[in-house]
Amino acid sequence: MTGSLRQRTIRRPVSVSGQGIHSGEDAEVTLGPGPIFSGIVFRRLDRADASPVRATLSTVTDTRRGITLGQGSSTVRTVEHLVAAAAGLGVSNLTVSMRGEEVPVLDGSAGPFCALLDDAGIEEQDAAIEPIMPSGPVWVAAGGASILALPASALRITYVVPLGHPVLGAALTADVTFAPGVFARDVAPARTWGFTAEVEALRAQGLARGATAENALGVGPNGYLSPPRMADEPARHKILDLVGDLALLGRPLRAHVIAMGAGHALHVDLARRIVRG
Ligand SMILES: [Zn+2]
Repeated sequence: MTGSLRQRTIRRPVSVSGQGIHSGEDAEVTLGPGPIFSGIVFRRLDRADASPVRATLSTVTDTRRGITLGQGSSTVRTVEHLVAAAAGLGVSNLTVSMRGEEVPVLDGSAGPFCALLDDAGIEEQDAAIEPIMPSGPVWVAAGGASILALPASALRITYVVPLGHPVLGAALTADVTFAPGVFARDVAPARTWGFTAEVEALRAQGLARGATAENALGVGPNGYLSPPRMADEPARHKILDLVGDLALLGRPLRAHVIAMGAGHALHVDLARRIVRG
């Protein structure tokens, strides 16, 4: 990639609706163009007094099993796959109008959001966007998980998912260097996944109510419960989630990010640490 990067938005509004994976409730989402320097802004059309919520690190209110954003009286949940699709396709400015609180899970991946953005037509805007590069190694860790980010000329993500699984192996690893087209092809199709035992525990907490065999890849004691789209699909989905969480920086990241056993909370910690410099 050479020269200065341009901000991008979409040409016309496009809509989709479906169930939220955690709430199980229906929501309708309309993606529309956004002016330069506006970023990705969510609006709750179903709430009269709702403030707009910009997708940034400062509006993150919860990182358990997904990213929740809040501003004033407005809350939007499980935004990460939609935000990842926008970031992965280089869309910097977007309005997201929602009827409902939780972004639909659709097929559990970012593929349908990428297709929707492509349908809307992506266009360059008359303003540049400055990438952000860490000044040196940045490291965050919690429990047994850790993430290291090293300055690099392009975004590369290496993700290790420790599984300790008798059939699928000790760990799954995926390594992606981003360039135009790579996100849509190699990352976006990877679906949400979970251990079957964990899904039951989540349901007991009132989460994963909308999880089905169609939108989540189950991992049971004997392996995948349905055919995976790629052998390392869980590791690629973690990369998808990380792309969405790093998009909260509001600028493209130039770093090689190496993550082991991490999740949304640590992803957001890393982004905050990178901003602090
Ligand atoms: Zn995800």
